[in-house]
Amino acid sequence: MAQRHVKLSHVEAQKLYPFRTSVKSFLDAYPTVKSIQVEVRPVGEGFEPFRDMTEWVEVYNEKSIPAILDCRNSRCFGGGPDLAYLVRWSVIEPKRTEFETTMRCRGHLGSPRGRRNDGPCDTFFKVKVNVVYKDAAEVKE
Ligand SMILES: [Zn+2]
Repeated sequence: MAQRHVKLSHVEAQKLYPFRTSVKSFLDAYPTVKSIQVEVRPVGEGFEPFRDMTEWVEVYNEKSIPAILDCRNSRCFGGGPDLAYLVRWSVIEPKRTEFETTMRCRGHLGSPRGRRNDGPCDTFFKVKVNVVYKDAAEVKE
């Protein structure tokens, strides 16, 4: 029974978060996608640009995209944009090739166990997504 339970949770994890377990599986999860580029420009505490940077920007592709980005605000708990959710429901499901949005961090400032809550984290993430889809002939079932 224990074995079966493990398998089920694995299946559930795959279903909900298709590329959470392995970065290689992004294109397996989205067979119509040829490539993706995600630019994230976080603004807030912990994301101050270095001396020779004009802005903090992180760029990902289909091989490097993380499911969730961690907020770097040292006082923020539970924060960071859920890129897996955004890419799936805002970009790939509606078949957009370009998408831009600004997401507010959903974390809160305070103690790790949540006993103190000093309000929401004030970090913002400007996210820009570009997707290239395969031609119909390239998509094989
Ligand atoms: Zn945060």
